[in-house]
Amino acid sequence: MKEGWEAVIGLEVHAQLNTASKIFCACSTAFGQEPNRNTCPVCLGLPGALPVINREAVRSAGKAAIALNLKINDKSIFARKNYFYPDLPKGYQISQYDQPFSEHGAVEILTSERDEGGRAQQWRAKRFGITRAHIEEDAGKSVHDIGDPSKSYVNLNRAGTPLLEIVSEPDFRSSWEAYDYVNFLRRTLQYIGVCDGNMEEGNLRCDANVSVRRAGETRLGTKAEIKNVNSLRFLQKAIEHEIDRQIAVLETGGRITQETRLWNEKEGKTVAMRSKEDAHDYRYFPEPDLPPLEVSDTWIAALKAELPELPEARRQRLMSEYELNADEAFTLTSQRELADYFETTAKAAGHARIAANWILSELLRELKNADVDITACRIKAEDLGALIRLIDDQTISGKIAKEVFAEMFATGGSPAGIVEAKGLAQITDAAAIEKIADQVIAANPKQVEQYRAGRTQLIGFFVGQTLKASGGKANPQAVNEILKEKLGNCSDH
Ligand SMILES: [Zn+2]
Repeated sequence: MKEGWEAVIGLEVHAQLNTASKIFCACSTAFGQEPNRNTCPVCLGLPGALPVINREAVRSAGKAAIALNLKINDKSIFARKNYFYPDLPKGYQISQYDQPFSEHGAVEILTSERDEGGRAQQWRAKRFGITRAHIEEDAGKSVHDIGDPSKSYVNLNRAGTPLLEIVSEPDFRSSWEAYDYVNFLRRTLQYIGVCDGNMEEGNLRCDANVSVRRAGETRLGTKAEIKNVNSLRFLQKAIEHEIDRQIAVLETGGRITQETRLWNEKEGKTVAMRSKEDAHDYRYFPEPDLPPLEVSDTWIAALKAELPELPEARRQRLMSEYELNADEAFTLTSQRELADYFETTAKAAGHARIAANWILSELLRELKNADVDITACRIKAEDLGALIRLIDDQTISGKIAKEVFAEMFATGGSPAGIVEAKGLAQITDAAAIEKIADQVIAANPKQVEQYRAGRTQLIGFFVGQTLKASGGKANPQAVNEILKEKLGNCSDH
């Protein structure tokens, strides 16, 4: 950011709660169905249809609120947010307004600016306030015909899907702080199993309110809202661009308009969409068809007891328990299933450090190449642990282990079974290695002569040749010892 300026950023995250049915009716929330199939009089907004709150959606919202340190209000009120759009058949969205489900939260997370190559520079803990998290319904979707611009369609399958809108305080001062926070929210919601967190599929959406001011100024500048960014990286780029744009406007004597802007990834800039409404434009009023939502302390305590270890706590535990660094622990806790996988592997291997190395390098690379998630990985954590044990007890060499690993990844076979079937067990039998070493020595008289004349660094050559002749199966340490003995101790010459 340009010297002498400060950015002020607030974030609104809409998380789709992954319940089986919609928030006010029994329609399925299944994705990818035939358009308008999952609808009924309630979510179509037909006259006389009455909404009934989905208990599971409230439980999910409650878990999220607890995980984000929000205070859950014992009584919250649903309100109608009035506006017209073709994908909103009722003419209003059922949301919450002045008495939200939960408020006054905060999270402390690790954040860092990034260098040109996207690498974190220095992680530091920073606290971000969360104003509120309230429950609301999603709207439907307008689909515009690319082939025929005169045609648009409305799909109401999504209408009535439960959402949790998480509104932050304007506590962010850079695009990377925003990135780290949304990433944290996504991980947390996935961990506790209430949201799939897939930004590309739209089940986690983020709007950013961005303004800038001169350093030292306490008044807030006019903000622009960036809407509908569908990836974390785009969000970061959009905010970065918007900060620069606003500074440029102000420095040339211009004024910022309060408006909604969209991120155009192709052109790498934000573009104005429409002027931004104020809350009073929506004419909120209490929803007459739904009673106040009331929850008890016992209910909250029971939900709390159901929560798993949260990602940030787990990251810190992995660091201290397994001596991992911050980046390693961060990657391993990026997904609950991956963290489980690591801990199971570490236990089975009896060696956490080596288990972490295998997962962070080989396994994650192969998963990425195959474009699959850890949940679809064919190698069971116990089997990866067993593979590490085979190296440890010298049944196979590290090199052969990579071959076995590739086979395990492709077939899901057990390491012992693959080693057995392919005859890959390491040759530790001295007589067998001596035989191969003799052949190598006999085939390379010139090198033997040089070695014996004092060029002892040629031992590497002999070891390499012997390992190669053994098909990579000879134990390197045994090869080394046997060769030295056979070639004789020459440093005395
Ligand atoms: Zn319905």
